[in-house]
Amino acid sequence: MSIFEDNKIKHTPISELGEFGLIDHITKSFICKNKNTIEGVGDDAAVLDYLDDKYQLLSTDMLLEGVHFDLSYSPLKHLGYKAVSVNVSDICAMNGEATHITVSIAVSNRFPVEALEELYSGINLACKKYKLDLIGGDTTSSIHGLVISISVFGEVEKSKISYRKGAKVNDLVVVTGDLGAAYLGLQILKREKEIFIENPAIQPDLQGNDYALQRQLKTEARTNLVDVLKDLNIVPTSMIDISDGLTSEILHLSKKSDVGITIYEDKLPIDYTTMNLSKELNLNPIFCALNGGEDYELLFTISQEHYSKLKKDVDFTIIGHVTHKSEGNNFIAKDNSSHEITAQGWEPIKNKNI
Ligand code: ADP
Ligand code: MG
Repeated sequence: MSIFEDNKIKHTPISELGEFGLIDHITKSFICKNKNTIEGVGDDAAVLDYLDDKYQLLSTDMLLEGVHFDLSYSPLKHLGYKAVSVNVSDICAMNGEATHITVSIAVSNRFPVEALEELYSGINLACKKYKLDLIGGDTTSSIHGLVISISVFGEVEKSKISYRKGAKVNDLVVVTGDLGAAYLGLQILKREKEIFIENPAIQPDLQGNDYALQRQLKTEARTNLVDVLKDLNIVPTSMIDISDGLTSEILHLSKKSDVGITIYEDKLPIDYTTMNLSKELNLNPIFCALNGGEDYELLFTISQEHYSKLKKDVDFTIIGHVTHKSEGNNFIAKDNSSHEITAQGWEPIKNKNI
């Protein structure tokens, strides 16, 4: 009898643990046995020690049609590019440089060769942009839809590595770029899809929302950050990429670093087009910036001594500071009210579409 049919075996719904609880649960009994494994499960990338002065980095991400992307509004070329970018972003989050990828796909017979050519033209574009070698993968058939699983390899100088752990009390909390636009891009695409389903004669109205759509469909990894930090001679005390939304990543960083983090509403970097679009869609721009996800910016902490160096770069915004763990994680609104940052719960489909 299989576990699905056996009523005597307890059936705990995955939603009871949440995505991150589930990962902890299924991986906690694994102990790293090889002495070259410096960091296994739990950060943006695994860290392996095979080279003298550098660590080898390895990360993997899987994208499923219908869960992470919808082909009715994701062009295959963009999807290929984005699938690589989200992997490279995890290497950036370790302060490293990506070097190689493997790409595995499962495809149903609904896909003609030309569709896969499109997908791979996007993958190839990303390989050129990020200077990556495609070194292998796997191809298999699926019953429904497309699955793309990419693994990325990278390296980082040992003295420059940034983990999720390492943030110190009084450090500054910094984000790159701006937040919330990718989420709004997704809302536009969903809205136009619904209108199209109801009335196929109406053409999608994507005019004027270029930035949000580009942020959703043509994700770029923040490879330039690694170079900028090197030039400024700054090594973040901790770092993570913002794939699931700012608040979610703040919780990861503070938990791993055993600290608290306080951020301020009036410091959040939000593009003016994001402000305007959120009003049009009747969404709160602060909510989008805090919880939107898929911006693939980097969130990191630095020692206060670097403050003056950072000030010169418009691409960095100091949004808060690190506190003692006992103070917890807090969001200070414009009216000075303090709100505890809590986990969002597990919604596998929310914010995960490409
Ligand atoms: P990210 O959002 O940066 O891709 P995740 O939240 O997906 O990271 O994963 C967190 C950590 O858990 C990573 O170190 C990842 O490698 C690990 N992980 C996720 N799923 C599994 C799994 N099924 N088995 C083993 N490790 C996993
Ligand atoms: Mg990550």
